[in-house]
Amino acid sequence: MKVKMILPALTEAKSPFFRPIKYSLFPPLGLATLAGYLDPSDEIDIQDEHVETLNLDDEPDLVVIQVYITSAFRAYQIADHYRAKGAYVCLGGLHVTSLPEEATAHADTIFLGPGEDIWPEFLRDFRRGVAGARYESKVRTLIGLPPIRRDLLKRELYLVPNSIVVSRGCPHHCDFCYKDAFFQGGKGFYTQTVEAALAEINRLPGRHLYFLDDHLFGNVRFASALFEGMRGMGRLWQAAGTVQAILQQPKMLELAVESGLRSLFVGFETLNPNNLRAQNKYQNLNRDYHAAIQRLHDHGVMVNGSFVFGMDDDDESVFDRTVDWAVSQGIETATFHILTPYPGTALHDRMAAQGRILHNDWDLYDTRHTVFRPAKMSLEALEAGYWRAYGEFYKWSSIFKGAWAKEFWSARLRHIAYAGGWKKLEPMWDFIIRAKRATRMLPVLEAVLEGKQVNRVNKVDNVNRGEGLEGVREGEWMVN
Ligand code: SF4
Repeated sequence: MKVKMILPALTEAKSPFFRPIKYSLFPPLGLATLAGYLDPSDEIDIQDEHVETLNLDDEPDLVVIQVYITSAFRAYQIADHYRAKGAYVCLGGLHVTSLPEEATAHADTIFLGPGEDIWPEFLRDFRRGVAGARYESKVRTLIGLPPIRRDLLKRELYLVPNSIVVSRGCPHHCDFCYKDAFFQGGKGFYTQTVEAALAEINRLPGRHLYFLDDHLFGNVRFASALFEGMRGMGRLWQAAGTVQAILQQPKMLELAVESGLRSLFVGFETLNPNNLRAQNKYQNLNRDYHAAIQRLHDHGVMVNGSFVFGMDDDDESVFDRTVDWAVSQGIETATFHILTPYPGTALHDRMAAQGRILHNDWDLYDTRHTVFRPAKMSLEALEAGYWRAYGEFYKWSSIFKGAWAKEFWSARLRHIAYAGGWKKLEPMWDFIIRAKRATRMLPVLEAVLEGKQVNRVNKVDNVNRGEGLEGVREGEWMVN
């Protein structure tokens, strides 16, 4: 059987003129995971439109397309194309799960939720000629996953070929987050076994890893055992975690750093407690953001701070306040978003009930456009403020100011190299991606990440005693 698996490009990632590096970082791991369930005799072709031009002239028997909100229209176009040619087309992913009726019009079969149980079930039915129109995930487990078919991924096209996922979902429930809808009807957070995760890491060549888990630290026992197991492997890795995990789990962070953690994506989202409450992001409430950043920096871990603009308590002062604060904290990189009410989320339901959703043009649900009526500013002011925030945060004077928030020269230089490398050299990244040379830059990324274990001495002991950590409750575990 000929199987074609496609990741269509997000609209924000595709431009004939410019291609930001962040969309060419990671290979389509989800599709390679599904490919692991296919027979060795099947002919499988995985294509990722972020890094290559799709070949749509082929004649596959089965087409599988992963759909995000801003790739939905493109995904439907590709699906219609293949159905017209007589192929059997399956659609799955976040957008399909939140709007199944819309996706149904373009597919023979749709998948709702994660695929570990329903994809093999579908394959059995499909081979017997009795495939259904809709499969809904109920059984949530990563036990017994077949090996990911990484051999089908074009590693050389990505800056970070060693992306890895060892859990699914997140134990929290923020109102704006897409994942709740995806995991409805079953467990919303679960992990691999530590042994399986370590075996997968061992299979990956080189040093660098990027954990794409929503919240790698969400299960303390699992994460601690994983980091213990990784000690001595010589890895350098990056991941995402929460303020709560950084502050509440002193030992876990130490273990993470010893096993190679060098940069962490942290969802601060807003500096305003009213906004946190309104978005059900209670895990950030009354947390000392400064202490969390300090703690990471003390361990030589760089911070990528995530911030969302346009929550109901935000007025036009939010942009400058947020940027000034982030720079003053020495945050190395920041990701800004305009609040986006994704369909299927509690935020969307609330805004729809208030009549504040402006349209359903999914291409514009890219967190760079305002698709709802903000409470305390115009939508033009929200978009202008969003772009200004990026400009202000990444101007050289801010990068230097942020770098100088660090005590040591090694940390300052690493800050400048990392922040400057991402944003100031974007034309270079564009050239490298188009020249299909992204992987060759990996040693540069590793060198910058490696940096030096800065600021550690003297400060770590204070943190372990809980000094200066507002809101830390000893012994509280997020998920046991
Ligand atoms: S902590 Fe992050 S991943 Fe978890 S629900 Fe909130 S936004 Fe989503």
